Amino acid sequence: MDRLIYLDNAATTKTAPEVVEAMLPFFTERFGNPSGIYGFGAANKDVISRQRETIARALNAKPFEIYFTAGGSESDNWALKAAAEAYAPKGRHVITSKIEHHAILHTCEYLEKQGFEVTYLDVDENGIVRLDELEAAIRSDTVLISIMYANNEIGTIQPIREIGEIANAHGVLFHTDAVQAFGHLPINVDECHIDMLSASGHKLNGPKGIGFLYIRKGVKVRSFVHGGAQERKRRAGTENVPGIVGLGAAVERAVRTMGERAAREEKLRNYLIGRIEKEIPYCRLNGDRVKRLPNNVNFSFRFIEGESLLIMLDGKGICASSGSACTSGSLDPSHVLLAIGLPHETAHGSLRMTLSEEVTEEELDYVVDNLKEIVVRLRRMSPLYEDFVKRGGVE
Ligand SMILES: *Cc1c(COP(=O)(O)O)cnc(C)c1O
Repeated sequence: MDRLIYLDNAATTKTAPEVVEAMLPFFTERFGNPSGIYGFGAANKDVISRQRETIARALNAKPFEIYFTAGGSESDNWALKAAAEAYAPKGRHVITSKIEHHAILHTCEYLEKQGFEVTYLDVDENGIVRLDELEAAIRSDTVLISIMYANNEIGTIQPIREIGEIANAHGVLFHTDAVQAFGHLPINVDECHIDMLSASGHKLNGPKGIGFLYIRKGVKVRSFVHGGAQERKRRAGTENVPGIVGLGAAVERAVRTMGERAAREEKLRNYLIGRIEKEIPYCRLNGDRVKRLPNNVNFSFRFIEGESLLIMLDGKGICASSGSACTSGSLDPSHVLLAIGLPHETAHGSLRMTLSEEVTEEELDYVVDNLKEIVVRLRRMSPLYEDFVKRGGVE
C-alpha cells in the first residue's frame, strides 16, 4: 500500500515549501546571534522585528505585544502561570472550560496545587460554553478566564467576542488558546477583547517548536524564562531565528490564502460529512455543524472501538485520529467527548479526520469506501452490535 492520505492536520501540518525555503539561509549563511554588536548578527534583529510585525498585523495587535515561545503548550503554560502569579494579590480564582487542551487543563491542575481555585465550565451538546454560566461563575476574586478559540477534537468555535465582552465588563483578564484557529480563521484581538492569545507554528504549515504568546500592553505578566534580555526580558534564550522566520512566513502565507483555503476545506468537509451520514448507519457527528473549523470532521460510530478503526484505516494508508487519549497510552475516552455528553461506549468509537487544502474529493471517496467496509467488518465482531440486531435494531 503506497497510498498515503493525511487527515490529521489538527495534530500537525506539513511545513509549506515556501516556509522551508525562507528558513534555510538562517541555518547556514545567516546564523548570527541577533544580540551581536557586529552587523552580521544584529541584522537578524531586524529580521525578527519584521516577523513580529507580520504576526501583529494578522491579529490587529502591536509588534511589541508578540512574544516568541517554543509553541502552543509553552504559550498556554506561560499565560496561565505567569498571569495567575502576577494577579494573585487581587484574587486566586481562574475560570476555564472542560474541553480545553491538556496544556491548559494540566496547567490549571498545577495552579490548584499552588492554592488557586479553578472553575471548569460545562459546555452544551455541541461543545459551546454557555455565556450565562460563564458570567455567573465570575467572582470578586476571579483574575483570569481562559477559553479556547476553537476545539482541536470536535472543531467547535466558541463565541469569543461575547466571552471577551463579559470578561472586559467584569475587569477580568481573558486568555484564549487559539492554536487551532490562528491562521485558519480571521482573529482581531481588539474586537474580541482578548488580553492574551496562544498560537503555534506547526498548526498552520509552519515549523514545529515555535509559537508565540500575544500579551496586550499593560497586562502584568511575569517572565517565564529567566536569563538574557530577549523578548523584552520576559522569555530569555537566544532567539530561534530560523523558527521565527518560518513562523513569519507561515503566517504571511496563512493570511494570504485563508479565504480560498477555508472555502475549499469547508466544501470537502461537508462532502465527507454528507457521505458518511448517508452511507454509514448508527453514526453521530460530534461538534457544532455550523460553528465549526472548516477542516474538522469528528464522528462516533456505535459498537466500534476507535483504536481498531484507526489501525485498520492505517492499513489502507489513511492517517486519522481517535477521541481517546492515546498519547498517554491510556484508553480513556476523550474528555471533550464526555463533556458534550457522549456515553463512554460511544465516545470510544470516535474518529477525527482533519483536512488540509491538499486533500482531494477522490481521496475522500477512497476514505469513505474503506471506512464503510471497516465499520461493517468491526461491527460483525461486536457482541453489542449482535445483541442490538437481535433486538431488531432498537434500544
Ligand atoms: C496542538 C495544540 C496545542 C499544543 O501546541 P504545541 O505547539 O504542539 O505545543 C495547544 N492547544 C491546542 C488547542 C492545540 O491544538
